Amino acid sequence: MNVSMAQVNSNEINDIEKTELHYGIKDGRVVHVESVINGLDCGCSCPHCDSQLIAKKGNVRVHHFAHYNAVDCEHGSETAIHLLAKQIIAERKVVQLPATSLKQMTLDTNVHPHHVNEFIPTKLEMFESVEEEPTMEGYRPDLTALGFDGEWLDIEIKVTHEVDDFKATAQIERRRNMLEINLSQVSRVLPYKELEEVVLYSAPRHFIYSQEHHKINLVLEAELEEKIKYVDNLIHNAQPKSSSGLTTKCDEAVMLIGYKIGSGFSTKNQSDFKIAHLFYVKPVQSKDTANFSINGSKGFEVEQVDVKETLSSKLEGLDFPVEVKLQYEPKPGFGRRTKWIVSDITEINL
Ligand SMILES: [Zn+2]
Repeated sequence: MNVSMAQVNSNEINDIEKTELHYGIKDGRVVHVESVINGLDCGCSCPHCDSQLIAKKGNVRVHHFAHYNAVDCEHGSETAIHLLAKQIIAERKVVQLPATSLKQMTLDTNVHPHHVNEFIPTKLEMFESVEEEPTMEGYRPDLTALGFDGEWLDIEIKVTHEVDDFKATAQIERRRNMLEINLSQVSRVLPYKELEEVVLYSAPRHFIYSQEHHKINLVLEAELEEKIKYVDNLIHNAQPKSSSGLTTKCDEAVMLIGYKIGSGFSTKNQSDFKIAHLFYVKPVQSKDTANFSINGSKGFEVEQVDVKETLSSKLEGLDFPVEVKLQYEPKPGFGRRTKWIVSDITEINL
């Protein structure tokens, strides 16, 4: 979180800061007590209750406003901050958009989580125009801004009330971009320049709804769906099947005739390599496949498969030829086609 020096903790906002008024309304604008003349001639009114204010700029207490002919109201300073934030954004026509990390997560058949994510960096957004409290169909945001790209952004300022779930849902339904800027932890007696910095750039902010994020999320969802389909397919294929055939990768009973495990150096690839192969015979393929028809078959054929090197001592103890059952597992690697490796060998004792 981006916490500015100008911000303070909520428990540091003491009661004096909460009730002491440093901002008043003059000619429709929010002004700091330092920018007006002393006394009743300041010409200011309370941002909350509209009472006439008197500027108290003496030598003892910090300069502030007091209600004239009325009790100091409790909400003057929070209303002032809210109005001030709107005024600052409307006049400056710029806000810092937050960095956002978009994530999608789902579980595969084996209940393992898979993630996809995209990081959207922070960005300074400038606007062509900004309107305060526009009358919209069914709602009234604090501000609505029109970007130079023709996109609208509604902005809500949180001082005491955040955008609730009901409001957020409505905003998502109408697919209008909305940013909430959180000023609840900001001191209400900050000078104008510091508040400006906090409002425009450093106060915590997040999107209630963003069309751009929505689009990216749809892409991420599709990506994740594709990924899960692939993973689930691998898991499915790794399950032992009872049917026989060329594609079956399960406890296959075969006549093992030999093995070869070794390592070497390839001058072509300039790298070390390892081999670990099993050789076995099995009945010749007698069934048609989708793209291959058998016109005649009889006898046995020789197969070569990869085997885990960890099985070498087991292989050493066998007398070839030997009838065994082979168990397979998917070979780690890249690409969409599953490659298989023998993960266990069981001798069939007749
Ligand atoms: Zn008041």
